[in-house]
Amino acid sequence: MVKGLLPFYLFIFLPFNTLAGDPARSALPLGSSKNYEVVPLPQSIVMQKGEPFILEAGVEILATANLQQEAAFLQQYLKEITWNDLPIVQKRVKKVRYIELAVSPNVKEAEGYILTVNQKGVTIQGGSAAGVFYGIQTLRKAVKEGVIMNPVIITDAPRFTWRGMHLDCSRHFFSTDFVKKFIDLLALHNMNRFHWHLTDDQGWRIEIKKWPKLISVGSQRTGTIIGTNSDIDDGIPYGGYYSQDEAREIVAYAAARHITVIPEIDMPGHMLAALASYPELGCTSGPYQVGHYWGVYKDVLCVSNERVYQFVEDVLTEIMDIFPSEVIHIGGDETPTDKWQQCPKCQALNATFGKPTGQSEEFSPLTSRLSPLQAHFTKRVFDFLTAHHRRALGWDEILDGSPLDAMIMSWRGTEPGAKAAETGHDVVMTPTTFCYFDYQQVEDTQFEPSRCGGFIPIEKVYSLDPAPDSLSTAAREHILGAQANLWSEYMTNEAMVEYQALPRMSALSEVQWTKPERKDYEAFKERLTRLTEFFELYHYQYAKHLWPDRQMPSRWQF
Ligand SMILES: [Zn+2]
Repeated sequence: MVKGLLPFYLFIFLPFNTLAGDPARSALPLGSSKNYEVVPLPQSIVMQKGEPFILEAGVEILATANLQQEAAFLQQYLKEITWNDLPIVQKRVKKVRYIELAVSPNVKEAEGYILTVNQKGVTIQGGSAAGVFYGIQTLRKAVKEGVIMNPVIITDAPRFTWRGMHLDCSRHFFSTDFVKKFIDLLALHNMNRFHWHLTDDQGWRIEIKKWPKLISVGSQRTGTIIGTNSDIDDGIPYGGYYSQDEAREIVAYAAARHITVIPEIDMPGHMLAALASYPELGCTSGPYQVGHYWGVYKDVLCVSNERVYQFVEDVLTEIMDIFPSEVIHIGGDETPTDKWQQCPKCQALNATFGKPTGQSEEFSPLTSRLSPLQAHFTKRVFDFLTAHHRRALGWDEILDGSPLDAMIMSWRGTEPGAKAAETGHDVVMTPTTFCYFDYQQVEDTQFEPSRCGGFIPIEKVYSLDPAPDSLSTAAREHILGAQANLWSEYMTNEAMVEYQALPRMSALSEVQWTKPERKDYEAFKERLTRLTEFFELYHYQYAKHLWPDRQMPSRWQF
């Protein structure tokens, strides 16, 4: 008996879903497009006449040398779903039926693909290897619906080039194994940017060899406030960090899945862990301790101190060495000016600008002016990155006073992003009103694990249009895409991260990928119900409010 063959013979006689115990979806009529209506929904699905293709023993994966990695993913996915190990070959022989992968000039968009199914075989033509990869994702989800595949031509390409998910690994630390599992979720949803929030007041999580105390001191806190900033400290030491080798491993893992890792070093605020490690970087020289509570701290980098710029440049030099991403996130949010106003050196520097110090801690999106001191700091960091052929990306606070080349991440609603796009900045939309997945997903929160305040149901996420018609054509072209953020103050473990992400991430994927005229929330819910089979298959914890007959995770599971 050849290992793996027996289950496959069963598939010849039984549609896959009969085996999966769901007879309702086992017999799709010929001509039905249901199999191919996956999440995110492809732009065009045109059913064809003819006999179906049956994915059975004897089918092989045909791929050119430059697509061996993609072929290996397809092989692995089909093995997980159908238990069968299809061979990968590079040369065609007569009478064998293939799933053929190719990069083709027929596909204009780099991330686009054309997926064709007929009785003789399946072909996925991509505009690049990434396009082939997204075609494989669609095929994988269609096969989950049944190994009898009706003839079809799917023509697909994403609406946006920036399809991101963020994960805060500072407030709580997540293992490299979990970060990989999280990246797998991005791949399942055709996402291509992983925004990795690596530093904050409550913990510095990335090894920097020139400044070793960032890890020996900054990655550890001596306790954490219980609940929503109560007065009670649990007194339990908490810490963790990624070595540079581990970070490189994550970069490679993501790259294989056509995902770019965007590292974020948040500055000049949210720097308490760095100040605790090197007190001379603050206006008062400390002493400081790594943050125990959540929110905004008044201690920030002393932007008049040349040693601070040495620190920032050393950190960014090592970050650029680990992360090949052109775009580097430099934070820039929530930076109070209190300490600068009391610091003689910062005041002397500010006097040279001839403007008041400013109140950047007033977080009103359109009225607050960036402090001239923060603008000065941001400009120097921006210039350093530009000199090294990288682009700075920052939270929307940096909009005032930033060069046009700076990319803006719009979080205080969509208005700052719209304003930035109208003035010529490239923008990623990640508004708190649609994209903060640490917020609650239902109104009745008594059984919810997270304690974060806002309310963003999945339907609201689905309704986001990052580049609405109300913007000018020129502005819409500057909106690169959308992203959701997972801040981890109240997500203490991995199951909670998954629960907050799923299934809202699936709704976001159609915001990012599918053209607005193709979107339909009711039809999406049907597609989503089928997609949840993958959440089950890979053991992701997910919120089940949309399926009252499914058992919700109980509190102890968090
Ligand atoms: Zn200062």
